[in-house]
Amino acid sequence: MHASQASRASFKTHVRVHKNVLENEHWFGDSGPKLGRQFTVAKAKERKTELLKILWQAAKSARNHGNLKFATSLEILGDKLDACSAGTRCGSLACEECRPAFQRAKFSGQARLLATLKVDYPHKQVVMATIIPRRFIYRIDELDALDVAAANRWVKDVLTRAGFRRVMLGSFDLSWEDGFYQGHWHIPMLTSDLEELKRRLKAIWPVSDIVKRPVVVSCTYSNGYLPYKDKAIKIPELLRQNRRGLPNLLLALDRTEPLELMVIFRLRLSAQHGELHFKPIP
Ligand SMILES: [Zn+2]
Repeated sequence: MHASQASRASFKTHVRVHKNVLENEHWFGDSGPKLGRQFTVAKAKERKTELLKILWQAAKSARNHGNLKFATSLEILGDKLDACSAGTRCGSLACEECRPAFQRAKFSGQARLLATLKVDYPHKQVVMATIIPRRFIYRIDELDALDVAAANRWVKDVLTRAGFRRVMLGSFDLSWEDGFYQGHWHIPMLTSDLEELKRRLKAIWPVSDIVKRPVVVSCTYSNGYLPYKDKAIKIPELLRQNRRGLPNLLLALDRTEPLELMVIFRLRLSAQHGELHFKPIP
């Protein structure tokens, strides 16, 4: 398939899968896969109210300072998140209800894929590589430049050029590092030689003054890391540590398509009856 045809086909799949997740309230309730104590329906509603308050206040202050464009963007996002409810889901990555719904749907589909892979490759182990290149650093006022799709294309190209051909199910993640946001990846994959894998990844991303541990490969013993890697950002922590950055961050998240966070290798994504399916490409 031609590259542009392939990207059109993948866009269409994303649109279909996106719709499929939003139409299934199963992913929005406490009966779906568990994401931890902070991610119950009740806690999400509390956070949503808090975030809306922050957005309205920031909009008001921006308007008072004559920053009308920023104020309007914040108001539009606030209205969108406020209107999100069963039957009319907003689908935004900035939404406390929709973001975890995508996280649950991915978790469920990926857990099924891993169960199959463990049977197909009994002598390999599943590890999670955390990759922190130095170039994806954003101060609060630089979040306009966040382009997750482009960052994912970059990491995929780098790994492909380094000869990685295996099935991988990674996700882009943002962390707040006391002054800036650091973009990085968590990429589960199979290996039969852990030390060789570490050596290959460390050769691509060597230690620097800025990033002391650019590559961390951890063994996995359960599927507990799966929802964690698809979280996108830790909003509960940011509400305690960096409320100031939240308006810009929420705008940046809203511009990012929830399925676009994923960086998958040799896998075909589809949706059926609201379930995500990841099928290895031979
Ligand atoms: Zn929503």
